[in-house]
Amino acid sequence: MVSDRGVAKWAFVEAAFQKRGPSNRRSLREFAPEPGPYLRQGDRPLLDFSSNDYLGLAQDPRLIAVATEATRRYGTGAMASRLVCGSFPLHQQLEASLAEFSQREAALLFSSGYQANATLLPTLFDRQSLVFVDRLAHNSLLFGIQASKAQWRRYRHNDYEHLEQLLQQAPVGVRLGIVSETVFSMDGDRTEVDRLADLADRYGAILYLDDAHALGVLGPEGSGLALRHPRVDVAVGTFGKACGSAGAFVVASRSLCDYWINTCPGLIYTTAIAPPVVAAALAAVQLLPELEPERQHLQAIAAELRQACRDRGWDCGPSQTQIVPLLVGESEQALVVAQRLEAAGILAMAIRPPTVPVGTARLRLVLRSDHQPEHLQQLVTALSEGWA
Ligand SMILES: *Cc1c(COP(=O)(O)O)cnc(C)c1O
Repeated sequence: MVSDRGVAKWAFVEAAFQKRGPSNRRSLREFAPEPGPYLRQGDRPLLDFSSNDYLGLAQDPRLIAVATEATRRYGTGAMASRLVCGSFPLHQQLEASLAEFSQREAALLFSSGYQANATLLPTLFDRQSLVFVDRLAHNSLLFGIQASKAQWRRYRHNDYEHLEQLLQQAPVGVRLGIVSETVFSMDGDRTEVDRLADLADRYGAILYLDDAHALGVLGPEGSGLALRHPRVDVAVGTFGKACGSAGAFVVASRSLCDYWINTCPGLIYTTAIAPPVVAAALAAVQLLPELEPERQHLQAIAAELRQACRDRGWDCGPSQTQIVPLLVGESEQALVVAQRLEAAGILAMAIRPPTVPVGTARLRLVLRSDHQPEHLQQLVTALSEGWA
């Protein structure tokens, strides 16, 4: 329909699809979790190489028990913002646990990692700031930086020399920031946090790191790479990955957390996390220290998968963790491989632009601590038949 003003109201929607092209178009599909590393699609169980449930905690009976109990005790919702009357003993307890676990003065909960990054960064930087961000950083980090209205530059992925060059060129008197993930969600490689901290110290920059894929998996007691690092000013963790529930948190100094209680819209103007979710997250954080055998198994099995791929000449990029990308190149081809794997009973997602740069479409293979060697065997066999 074209109005009197000659404008087709929804033309931009069709234009967006046109621009993206059919091989990069997304749609929603339904899955149901099954016991073990499986997801059911319709009536077919698929071997899971796609979820971020690295330690299998989303189905853990201990988390299910405390979440059920918290629902009985507190109900299904927190009923208000933390600043009104939605701050229950459970929320305080989880924050105290997180501060202790991270060896920090304080922690604050957020409804999601996306919301944390999107609304914390604008409280740290303004028009007079200059922020440097890794070229492959998560969309929520970019979103937060853009919302801050700061000037910003991308530095080449994990390229500390490039970052230093940019820092050297920064004008004096502006507030500087360095923003990155610690484990990159689509590449599975790690940042050298010490190198970033050295640069942040030398140039007086605020260092803000997102530990979403490291929490529970790497570091002492599964504490990630940034949370306990004394020279990281602000570290964000999420509960939706290895912790098996949902929501997120930030750790920092007491005074920064007090500042956010007064200034961060993503904390002030939103309903507190629901009691069962808080209880599950608390149980996960308390469990993490004792999951060392699971972490070791996860790393061992990831190393095994990378080796199997490299032996066959397949490119898994710079992966060093439980996230193993298999670089395919074009979106169409990545979709074809994913479909063939699915026909063989394996769920491995094709990740396409704009989530990853054009020409680097990939299968994102994600390991979990309940994967066994025979699961890898099944994957590698299916890949050999479906791709190479
Ligand atoms: C998943 C993810 C987020 C978003 O966290 P949610 O709690 O799922 O919103 C933020 N940052 C990174 C690096 C992530 O991988």
